[in-house]
Amino acid sequence: QTVHDKDQIQGLRNIREFLKVRCGYDVFPLSFRLIVLDNDLLIKKSLNILIQNSIVSAPLWDSHSSSFAGILTATDYINVIQYYCQFPDEIGKLDQFRLSSLRDIEKAIGALPIETVSVNPSTPLFDAIKRMLNTRARRIPLVDVDDETGREWVVSVITQYRILKFIAVNNEHNTMLLKKTIRELNLGTYTNLATTHMSNTVLDVIHQMVERNISCVPVVDDDNRVLNVFEAVDIIPCIKGGMYEELNWSVGDALCKRPEDSPGIYTCSEHDRLQAIFDTIRKSRVHRLIVVDDDNKLRGVLSLSDILMYVLFSDEA
Ligand code: ADP
Repeated sequence: QTVHDKDQIQGLRNIREFLKVRCGYDVFPLSFRLIVLDNDLLIKKSLNILIQNSIVSAPLWDSHSSSFAGILTATDYINVIQYYCQFPDEIGKLDQFRLSSLRDIEKAIGALPIETVSVNPSTPLFDAIKRMLNTRARRIPLVDVDDETGREWVVSVITQYRILKFIAVNNEHNTMLLKKTIRELNLGTYTNLATTHMSNTVLDVIHQMVERNISCVPVVDDDNRVLNVFEAVDIIPCIKGGMYEELNWSVGDALCKRPEDSPGIYTCSEHDRLQAIFDTIRKSRVHRLIVVDDDNKLRGVLSLSDILMYVLFSDEA
Protein backbone atom coordinates (compact mmCIF):
# COMPACT_ATOMS: atom_id res chain seq x y z
CA GLN A 1 0.00 0.00 0.00
CA THR A 2 1.28 3.44 -0.88
CA VAL A 3 0.77 6.55 1.22
CA HIS A 4 -1.85 7.63 -1.30
CA ASP A 5 -3.79 4.41 -0.80
CA LYS A 6 -3.78 4.83 2.96
CA ASP A 7 -4.86 8.47 2.77
CA GLN A 8 -7.57 7.64 0.28
CA ILE A 9 -8.99 4.91 2.54
CA GLN A 10 -8.85 7.16 5.59
CA GLY A 11 -10.53 10.04 3.75
CA LEU A 12 -13.35 7.83 2.49
CA ARG A 13 -13.91 6.28 5.91
CA ASN A 14 -14.08 9.66 7.60
CA ILE A 15 -16.56 11.00 5.07
CA ARG A 16 -18.76 7.92 5.43
CA GLU A 17 -18.71 8.28 9.21
CA PHE A 18 -19.67 11.93 8.80
CA LEU A 19 -22.63 11.00 6.59
CA LYS A 20 -23.84 8.48 9.15
CA VAL A 21 -24.03 11.05 11.95
CA ARG A 22 -25.61 13.86 9.94
CA CYS A 23 -29.16 14.01 8.66
CA GLY A 24 -31.30 15.93 6.20
CA TYR A 25 -31.98 18.70 8.72
CA ASP A 26 -28.23 19.45 8.90
CA VAL A 27 -28.05 20.17 5.17
CA PHE A 28 -30.57 23.01 5.11
CA PRO A 29 -29.29 26.54 5.10
CA LEU A 30 -30.51 28.74 7.98
CA SER A 31 -33.09 30.31 5.78
CA PHE A 32 -34.58 28.93 2.58
CA ARG A 33 -37.74 29.00 0.55
CA LEU A 34 -39.57 26.05 -0.84
CA ILE A 35 -42.02 26.39 -3.69
CA VAL A 36 -44.61 23.64 -3.69
CA LEU A 37 -47.03 23.30 -6.62
CA ASP A 38 -50.63 22.19 -6.40
CA ASN A 39 -51.25 18.99 -8.34
CA ASP A 40 -54.31 20.60 -9.97
CA LEU A 41 -52.22 23.25 -11.71
CA LEU A 42 -52.15 23.15 -15.52
CA ILE A 43 -48.84 21.79 -16.82
CA LYS A 44 -48.37 24.77 -19.12
CA LYS A 45 -48.72 27.15 -16.17
CA SER A 46 -46.19 25.22 -14.11
CA LEU A 47 -43.50 26.04 -16.68
CA ASN A 48 -43.85 29.78 -16.19
CA ILE A 49 -43.81 29.41 -12.42
CA LEU A 50 -40.54 27.48 -12.56
CA ILE A 51 -38.99 30.04 -14.90
CA GLN A 52 -40.17 33.07 -12.91
CA ASN A 53 -38.71 31.61 -9.74
CA SER A 54 -35.48 30.38 -11.36
CA ILE A 55 -36.05 26.83 -10.21
CA VAL A 56 -36.05 23.59 -12.20
CA SER A 57 -38.15 21.34 -10.02
CA ALA A 58 -40.75 21.47 -7.25
CA PRO A 59 -42.57 19.09 -4.93
CA LEU A 60 -46.24 18.50 -5.76
CA TRP A 61 -49.07 18.68 -3.28
CA ASP A 62 -52.41 16.94 -3.55
CA SER A 63 -54.79 19.32 -1.81
CA HIS A 64 -57.70 16.87 -1.93
CA SER A 65 -55.95 14.35 0.25
CA SER A 66 -53.52 16.84 1.84
CA SER A 67 -50.56 14.71 0.90
CA PHE A 68 -47.27 14.83 -0.90
CA ALA A 69 -47.76 13.84 -4.55
CA GLY A 70 -44.24 13.42 -5.90
CA ILE A 71 -41.76 15.78 -7.39
CA LEU A 72 -41.90 17.67 -10.67
CA THR A 73 -38.65 17.69 -12.68
CA ALA A 74 -37.41 18.24 -16.23
CA THR A 75 -38.01 14.53 -16.85
CA ASP A 76 -41.76 15.13 -16.57
CA TYR A 77 -41.59 17.72 -19.33
CA ILE A 78 -39.54 15.34 -21.43
CA ASN A 79 -42.35 12.81 -20.96
CA VAL A 80 -44.91 15.39 -22.09
CA ILE A 81 -42.81 16.03 -25.21
CA GLN A 82 -42.64 12.32 -25.95
CA TYR A 83 -46.40 12.11 -25.53
CA TYR A 84 -46.78 14.93 -28.04
CA CYS A 85 -44.48 13.09 -30.49
CA GLN A 86 -46.42 9.85 -30.13
CA PHE A 87 -49.89 11.41 -30.22
CA PRO A 88 -49.50 14.59 -32.30
CA ASP A 89 -53.28 14.82 -32.84
CA GLU A 90 -53.81 15.41 -29.14
CA ILE A 91 -51.99 18.72 -29.02
CA GLY A 92 -55.27 20.44 -28.06
CA LYS A 93 -55.75 18.09 -25.12
CA LEU A 94 -52.15 18.65 -24.04
CA ASP A 95 -53.00 22.23 -23.18
CA GLN A 96 -55.59 21.07 -20.66
CA PHE A 97 -53.39 18.58 -18.83
CA ARG A 98 -52.79 19.19 -15.17
CA LEU A 99 -49.80 18.14 -13.12
CA SER A 100 -51.95 15.33 -11.76
CA SER A 101 -52.06 13.88 -15.32
CA LEU A 102 -48.31 13.34 -15.39
CA ARG A 103 -48.60 9.76 -14.15
CA ASP A 104 -51.10 8.98 -16.94
CA ILE A 105 -48.75 10.51 -19.50
CA GLU A 106 -45.96 8.32 -18.15
CA LYS A 107 -48.15 5.26 -18.64
CA ALA A 108 -49.34 6.28 -22.10
CA ILE A 109 -45.79 6.57 -23.43
CA GLY A 110 -44.60 3.50 -21.55
CA ALA A 111 -41.98 5.38 -19.54
CA LEU A 112 -40.65 3.72 -16.44
CA PRO A 113 -42.15 5.71 -13.59
CA ILE A 114 -39.55 7.33 -11.40
CA GLU A 115 -40.10 5.99 -7.97
CA THR A 116 -40.95 8.88 -5.67
CA VAL A 117 -38.98 7.96 -2.65
CA SER A 118 -39.09 10.39 0.18
CA VAL A 119 -37.20 10.24 3.42
CA ASN A 120 -37.73 11.70 6.83
CA PRO A 121 -35.36 14.64 7.39
CA SER A 122 -33.98 13.00 10.52
CA THR A 123 -32.82 9.92 8.55
CA PRO A 124 -29.01 9.67 8.49
CA LEU A 125 -27.70 11.20 5.27
CA PHE A 126 -25.86 8.02 4.39
CA ASP A 127 -29.16 6.11 4.20
CA ALA A 128 -30.95 8.94 2.42
CA ILE A 129 -28.27 9.07 -0.30
CA LYS A 130 -28.31 5.31 -0.61
CA ARG A 131 -32.05 5.41 -1.31
CA MET A 132 -31.57 8.18 -3.84
CA LEU A 133 -28.85 6.28 -5.70
CA ASN A 134 -30.85 3.05 -5.68
CA THR A 135 -33.68 4.72 -7.55
CA ARG A 136 -33.15 6.83 -10.64
CA ALA A 137 -34.06 9.95 -8.67
CA ARG A 138 -31.57 12.78 -8.71
CA ARG A 139 -33.22 14.61 -5.85
CA ILE A 140 -35.02 13.44 -2.79
CA PRO A 141 -37.89 15.11 -0.95
CA LEU A 142 -37.68 15.27 2.83
CA VAL A 143 -41.13 14.59 4.20
CA ASP A 144 -42.00 14.77 7.89
CA VAL A 145 -45.21 14.15 9.80
CA ASP A 146 -46.79 16.93 11.83
CA ASP A 147 -47.07 15.83 15.48
CA GLU A 148 -50.38 17.55 16.05
CA THR A 149 -52.35 16.76 12.92
CA GLY A 150 -50.59 13.56 11.96
CA ARG A 151 -50.37 14.89 8.41
CA GLU A 152 -47.29 14.79 6.27
CA TRP A 153 -45.57 17.94 5.03
CA VAL A 154 -42.67 18.53 2.68
CA VAL A 155 -39.82 20.11 4.60
CA SER A 156 -37.34 20.49 1.77
CA VAL A 157 -35.76 18.74 -1.18
CA ILE A 158 -32.13 17.73 -1.28
CA THR A 159 -30.24 17.25 -4.49
CA GLN A 160 -27.04 15.38 -5.27
CA TYR A 161 -25.45 18.78 -5.74
CA ARG A 162 -26.49 19.97 -2.24
CA ILE A 163 -25.18 16.80 -0.63
CA LEU A 164 -21.80 16.97 -2.37
CA LYS A 165 -21.52 20.64 -1.47
CA PHE A 166 -22.30 19.77 2.14
CA ILE A 167 -19.62 17.05 2.13
CA ALA A 168 -17.08 19.35 0.47
CA VAL A 169 -17.65 22.30 2.80
CA ASN A 170 -17.61 20.28 6.02
CA ASN A 171 -14.84 17.84 5.17
CA GLU A 172 -12.08 19.91 3.69
CA HIS A 173 -9.40 17.97 5.57
CA ASN A 174 -10.89 14.63 4.52
CA THR A 175 -11.31 15.50 0.87
CA MET A 176 -7.66 16.64 0.92
CA LEU A 177 -6.78 13.00 1.54
CA LEU A 178 -8.39 11.88 -1.72
CA LYS A 179 -5.22 12.09 -3.78
CA LYS A 180 -5.98 9.49 -6.41
CA THR A 181 -6.81 10.78 -9.87
CA ILE A 182 -10.18 10.14 -11.42
CA ARG A 183 -8.35 8.08 -14.07
CA GLU A 184 -6.82 5.83 -11.39
CA LEU A 185 -10.22 5.45 -9.81
CA ASN A 186 -11.90 4.90 -13.18
CA LEU A 187 -14.43 7.48 -12.08
CA GLY A 188 -16.91 8.64 -14.72
CA THR A 189 -17.93 7.39 -18.15
CA TYR A 190 -15.36 7.30 -20.99
CA THR A 191 -16.79 5.02 -23.63
CA ASN A 192 -19.88 5.16 -25.77
CA LEU A 193 -20.50 8.81 -24.90
CA ALA A 194 -23.67 10.49 -26.13
CA THR A 195 -22.74 13.78 -27.83
CA THR A 196 -24.42 16.28 -30.08
CA HIS A 197 -23.62 19.18 -32.42
CA MET A 198 -24.80 22.80 -32.33
CA SER A 199 -26.85 22.26 -35.49
CA ASN A 200 -28.78 19.19 -34.27
CA THR A 201 -32.32 19.75 -33.04
CA VAL A 202 -33.45 19.89 -29.44
CA LEU A 203 -35.73 16.94 -30.16
CA ASP A 204 -32.72 14.83 -31.24
CA VAL A 205 -31.02 15.51 -27.93
CA ILE A 206 -34.17 14.75 -25.96
CA HIS A 207 -34.38 11.36 -27.64
CA GLN A 208 -30.76 10.68 -26.71
CA MET A 209 -31.44 11.58 -23.08
CA VAL A 210 -34.47 9.32 -22.93
CA GLU A 211 -32.77 6.39 -24.61
CA ARG A 212 -29.67 6.57 -22.45
CA ASN A 213 -31.32 7.77 -19.25
CA ILE A 214 -28.87 10.64 -18.87
CA SER A 215 -29.43 14.27 -18.01
CA CYS A 216 -26.70 15.91 -20.06
CA VAL A 217 -25.24 15.69 -23.55
CA PRO A 218 -21.95 17.43 -24.39
CA VAL A 219 -22.06 19.63 -27.50
CA VAL A 220 -18.90 19.13 -29.58
CA ASP A 221 -17.49 20.45 -32.87
CA ASP A 222 -16.27 18.30 -35.77
CA ASP A 223 -12.94 17.77 -33.99
CA ASN A 224 -14.68 16.55 -30.83
CA ARG A 225 -13.80 19.77 -28.97
CA VAL A 226 -16.27 20.60 -26.22
CA LEU A 227 -18.33 23.73 -26.96
CA ASN A 228 -21.06 23.42 -24.35
CA VAL A 229 -23.33 20.94 -22.62
CA PHE A 230 -27.04 20.54 -23.25
CA GLU A 231 -28.83 19.72 -20.01
CA ALA A 232 -32.31 18.32 -19.42
CA VAL A 233 -33.29 21.61 -17.76
CA ASP A 234 -32.45 23.49 -20.96
CA ILE A 235 -35.69 22.26 -22.50
CA ILE A 236 -37.81 24.24 -20.01
CA PRO A 237 -37.39 27.63 -21.76
CA CYS A 238 -37.92 25.91 -25.14
CA ILE A 239 -41.45 24.72 -24.34
CA LYS A 240 -42.69 27.48 -22.06
CA GLY A 241 -45.02 29.04 -24.61
CA GLY A 242 -46.62 25.65 -25.30
CA MET A 243 -45.03 25.99 -28.74
CA TYR A 244 -43.81 22.52 -29.35
CA GLU A 245 -42.48 23.58 -32.77
CA GLU A 246 -39.61 25.10 -30.87
CA LEU A 247 -38.32 21.60 -30.29
CA ASN A 248 -37.14 21.74 -33.88
CA TRP A 249 -34.81 24.53 -32.88
CA SER A 250 -31.13 23.85 -33.11
CA VAL A 251 -29.18 23.10 -29.96
CA GLY A 252 -27.25 26.33 -30.54
CA ASP A 253 -30.44 28.44 -30.59
CA ALA A 254 -31.84 26.70 -27.52
CA LEU A 255 -28.65 27.35 -25.53
CA CYS A 256 -29.05 31.07 -26.23
CA LYS A 257 -32.31 30.92 -24.25
CA ARG A 258 -30.52 30.02 -21.04
CA PRO A 259 -31.16 32.34 -18.12
CA GLU A 260 -28.47 35.00 -17.58
CA ASP A 261 -27.31 33.49 -14.32
CA SER A 262 -26.64 29.98 -15.70
CA PRO A 263 -23.58 28.60 -13.98
CA GLY A 264 -21.85 27.53 -17.18
CA ILE A 265 -19.97 24.30 -17.66
CA TYR A 266 -17.11 22.86 -15.65
CA THR A 267 -14.36 20.76 -17.13
CA CYS A 268 -11.60 18.70 -15.59
CA SER A 269 -8.76 16.47 -16.71
CA GLU A 270 -8.59 12.74 -16.10
CA HIS A 271 -5.32 13.44 -14.27
CA ASP A 272 -7.10 15.60 -11.70
CA ARG A 273 -7.17 14.22 -8.19
CA LEU A 274 -10.54 13.67 -6.55
CA GLN A 275 -9.32 16.26 -4.03
CA ALA A 276 -9.31 18.89 -6.80
CA ILE A 277 -12.79 17.88 -7.93
CA PHE A 278 -14.04 18.46 -4.39
CA ASP A 279 -12.35 21.89 -4.43
CA THR A 280 -14.37 22.77 -7.51
CA ILE A 281 -17.57 21.53 -5.85
CA ARG A 282 -16.77 23.57 -2.74
CA LYS A 283 -16.32 26.77 -4.74
CA SER A 284 -18.84 26.52 -7.56
CA ARG A 285 -22.30 25.45 -8.64
CA VAL A 286 -21.27 22.26 -10.41
CA HIS A 287 -23.84 19.81 -11.69
CA ARG A 288 -21.35 17.57 -13.50
CA LEU A 289 -17.84 17.80 -14.88
CA ILE A 290 -16.90 17.26 -18.48
CA VAL A 291 -13.55 15.48 -18.76
CA VAL A 292 -11.38 16.97 -21.52
CA ASP A 293 -7.79 16.59 -22.70
CA ASP A 294 -5.23 19.40 -23.11
CA ASP A 295 -6.79 20.23 -26.47
CA ASN A 296 -10.27 20.60 -24.95
CA LYS A 297 -11.31 17.41 -26.72
CA LEU A 298 -13.99 15.35 -25.03
CA ARG A 299 -12.72 12.38 -22.98
CA GLY A 300 -15.60 11.63 -20.63
CA VAL A 301 -18.39 12.71 -18.32
CA LEU A 302 -18.15 12.74 -14.54
CA SER A 303 -21.62 12.99 -13.03
CA LEU A 304 -22.44 13.81 -9.43
CA SER A 305 -23.95 10.35 -9.06
CA ASP A 306 -20.61 8.82 -10.18
CA ILE A 307 -18.85 10.72 -7.39
CA LEU A 308 -21.46 9.90 -4.74
CA MET A 309 -21.44 6.21 -5.71
CA TYR A 310 -17.69 6.11 -5.26
CA VAL A 311 -17.64 8.03 -1.99
CA LEU A 312 -20.34 5.86 -0.41
CA PHE A 313 -19.79 2.43 -1.85
CA SER A 314 -16.34 1.89 -3.32
CA ASP A 315 -14.90 -1.17 -1.60
CA GLU A 316 -11.49 0.44 -1.31
CA ALA A 317 -12.29 1.57 2.21
P1 ADP B 1 -26.80 12.10 -12.86
O1 ADP B 1 -27.36 10.73 -12.66
O2 ADP B 1 -25.70 12.49 -11.89
O3 ADP B 1 -27.78 13.20 -13.12
P2 ADP B 1 -26.36 11.57 -15.52
O4 ADP B 1 -27.76 11.20 -15.71
O5 ADP B 1 -25.81 12.66 -16.34
O6 ADP B 1 -25.99 12.02 -14.13
O7 ADP B 1 -25.44 10.29 -15.59
C1 ADP B 1 -25.80 8.95 -15.29
C2 ADP B 1 -24.63 8.04 -15.74
O8 ADP B 1 -24.45 8.20 -17.14
C3 ADP B 1 -23.30 8.42 -15.10
O9 ADP B 1 -22.57 7.23 -14.83
C4 ADP B 1 -22.59 9.25 -16.14
O10 ADP B 1 -21.19 9.12 -16.09
C5 ADP B 1 -23.15 8.70 -17.43
N1 ADP B 1 -23.31 9.77 -18.44
C6 ADP B 1 -23.73 11.03 -18.23
N2 ADP B 1 -23.78 11.74 -19.37
C7 ADP B 1 -23.39 10.89 -20.35
C8 ADP B 1 -23.22 11.01 -21.78
N3 ADP B 1 -23.49 12.16 -22.40
N4 ADP B 1 -22.80 9.93 -22.45
C9 ADP B 1 -22.57 8.77 -21.83
N5 ADP B 1 -22.69 8.59 -20.50
C10 ADP B 1 -23.10 9.62 -19.76
